[in-house]
Amino acid sequence: MEKIFTDQNLMLVANVQNLLSAEGIVGELRNTYASGASGSLAFTEVWPELWIDGRQVIRAKELLQQISEKSELAWHCSRCDEESPGNFDYCWHCGDTAPKLAR
Ligand SMILES: [Zn+2]
Repeated sequence: MEKIFTDQNLMLVANVQNLLSAEGIVGELRNTYASGASGSLAFTEVWPELWIDGRQVIRAKELLQQISEKSELAWHCSRCDEESPGNFDYCWHCGDTAPKLAR
């Protein structure tokens, strides 16, 4: 297993996991408790991480590259006004649906 993505925001990491699983790459989320419901952990705790099976790491990194390139086309959520990457079908912040699907 190899860690290929990490972010402070669990929903963002989970969204990357979903995008990769749509391509047949099964990822494993770790440290999800860090931003869980407890809310008592300091922000210096480890961030949620996405781990990928070693045989799929190269393919996963290619997809991540594509995701980050498309992410320049960000959109603003109509509900909470947070900005989400263009390839996200749902707001990372509140889970609302994107105004128009990027795919
Ligand atoms: Zn939102």
